[in-house]
Amino acid sequence: MSGKGPNTRILSLTRGERGEGLGLAIEQSATWSLKDAQSGVANAQTFAPTTFYTRWGNPTTRRLENAVAHLEHADGALATASGMGAVSTALIAYARRKKHAVAQRSLYTASHEMLSRVLADFDVKTDFVPGPDTDAFAAKVTRDTAFVYLESPSNPLMQITDIRAVSEVAADKGVPVIVDNTFPSPLNQRPLELGATVSLHSATKYLGGHSDVTGGILAAGEEALHKLWDTYKMLGPTLAPNDAFLIHRGIKTLGLRIERHNANALRLARFLSEHPRVEKVHYPGLPDHPGHEVAKRQMDGFGGMLSFEVKGGYDVGRRMMEACQVCVLGVSLGGVESLIQHPASTSHGPLSPEERKVAGIPEGLIRLSVGIEDIEDLEGDLDRALSVAAGKEAPAPRA
Ligand code: PLP
Repeated sequence: MSGKGPNTRILSLTRGERGEGLGLAIEQSATWSLKDAQSGVANAQTFAPTTFYTRWGNPTTRRLENAVAHLEHADGALATASGMGAVSTALIAYARRKKHAVAQRSLYTASHEMLSRVLADFDVKTDFVPGPDTDAFAAKVTRDTAFVYLESPSNPLMQITDIRAVSEVAADKGVPVIVDNTFPSPLNQRPLELGATVSLHSATKYLGGHSDVTGGILAAGEEALHKLWDTYKMLGPTLAPNDAFLIHRGIKTLGLRIERHNANALRLARFLSEHPRVEKVHYPGLPDHPGHEVAKRQMDGFGGMLSFEVKGGYDVGRRMMEACQVCVLGVSLGGVESLIQHPASTSHGPLSPEERKVAGIPEGLIRLSVGIEDIEDLEGDLDRALSVAAGKEAPAPRA
């Protein structure tokens, strides 16, 4: 591959060979005509063959898998139809009856429910660790642990777990570590280099990058990949070739987008931490963030996700989110447009204030997926929305 810089590498990785098209050809086929009986047997005994049956593998999807495997420094990858397709495949592949799992408490809601409800129904109990402390993980991991599951930075408080330290604790007991690497993207963090066993993504987010496709991916070393494949081919979470095309095209600009997400988020975190209407900012790029030193070691950039607490609690938080004109009120993250959410009135709205407290969701918390807009417009939007929410300015008419 020619060129060493990340953008050059990604572009050479995602284009065809000499004489081939630069765009990815979509092989929209569910099955392939086999030469003879012997080739059917050979395919059925092969790991993730690409010209046999698309639930098992597809040439278009494989190009995406190879690109992500390269970015994650993995031996290979398996693409799924959603991030939860990747999460559930990994959890089911590693779950073992009579063994328990250890996971961070602060996880994406559906991942938490997979552990606390779905796996629990199959007799796999999860011990949830309240914070990102390595010692807290160490206290729970035993030789009877099926796997450790974590996200760093975590949602929505951006806590940083030391992936290398937790992986060492787990490796001492022969326990695999699964990391949801969606928030940082592989350009900011590569869990396998830090000792994790599996790195997975909701490709709906930064990999796709344009909020127009749903997908997921599992990246791992060879042994783990074979284990994941055994479950994957039966669960059937396969990504469709058309959607693989979209995510693959998204990846061509991943380097540029992540550079801009990182820069915009850092600028906004600094801006908000000096804002008189803001109580607290959670962003690992700020020197006073408790995970800043670990984040500096394990991340190449601090990412595009941040959260902050407004003064005035629930009502001000909700009004602020609704007053934004540039940032879009919506769930999801990692797209080119900034997306804003007030968890207490949206994702965690059904919970009582006491339950939100237990879940670690402050009433005035705002979560922001910082997009690639011009920074002055983002600062202006948040500044004005904070004034409107505090009753100091009339809301502007919606564009
Ligand atoms: N992991 C994280 C960190 C997420 O934020 C999400 C979705 O928001 C998922 C996994 C699930 O991804 P998907 O919605 O693509 O299934």
